[in-house]
Amino acid sequence: MKPHAPRKRFGQHFLVDASVLARIADAVAPRDGDRVVEIGPGLGALTAVLLDRVATLEAVEIDRDLVARLRRRWPEPRLVVHEADVLEFDFGALAAGRRLRLVGNLPYNISSPLLIGLLSHRASIVDVHFMLQKEVVDRIVAPHGGADYGRLGVMMQAFHRVERLFDVPPEAFDPPPRVDSSVMRMHPRAEPLVRDAATLEGLLAVAFNQRRKMLRGTLLPWLREQGLDPTAPAFALEPTARPEEIPVEEWARLADALLDARAARPQPPGVAP
Ligand code: SAM
Repeated sequence: MKPHAPRKRFGQHFLVDASVLARIADAVAPRDGDRVVEIGPGLGALTAVLLDRVATLEAVEIDRDLVARLRRRWPEPRLVVHEADVLEFDFGALAAGRRLRLVGNLPYNISSPLLIGLLSHRASIVDVHFMLQKEVVDRIVAPHGGADYGRLGVMMQAFHRVERLFDVPPEAFDPPPRVDSSVMRMHPRAEPLVRDAATLEGLLAVAFNQRRKMLRGTLLPWLREQGLDPTAPAFALEPTARPEEIPVEEWARLADALLDARAARPQPPGVAP
């Protein structure tokens, strides 16, 4: 078979280090009966170690040539490859009531939109094991108070328990990426800290857009513009706080307060709340 020329536009860096592959498989520890879905199986390096442990596997791959290779190597039902853009893939429909375990060495250029997009499928997910750019994992697991703490970390932590597992150097891949990588695990929380993802996302976008500014210069005027009173006890806002000083639980509480305040706001006649 002709060797595959890695495609930059699909973020193709293939894992070639057997010890890293084994560590990922050990971390996932799939058992027969688990519905494991690999995102971006590529040339099948991780697929092979996962298929050593489960009878069948599903995968989502965008590159038509790689899809054809994978289907030749592992005919259905051993491997079911969905040729699709994972950003548009309906994990809820695939799960159909049987929750999924997601695994992948992700294309780094789509990791943030994928992680945010997966929030809407979280009821269909048991857990997630992803290799990402190390810098992105630093942000996902960051506690409040540091430079890595921001929108992505708050969003992920509000809905999941997150954990960095181990770091992976560029030499573990062919071709090697220009950045370090890390493997992380996320478990959707049975009870998310916040009620509505979009409300939290909107709030964080305003506050962290100017992360060095105090809330009195960002969030307070934004709330006023919406006809809300930022001094209301329900918000309990500290005007001189900066966004990175506010813990995830507090952001979640604020988002819930904003959701309630918007619902209670008087509506012009003829507009549904
Ligand atoms: N899992 C393989 C490995 O570890 O060697 C390949 C990892 S490579 C970093 C990323 C893989 O994701 C590639 O196979 C690429 O074609 C695929 N991919 C890129 N963008 C995608 C997308 N939007 N949807 C689905 N797959 C995608």
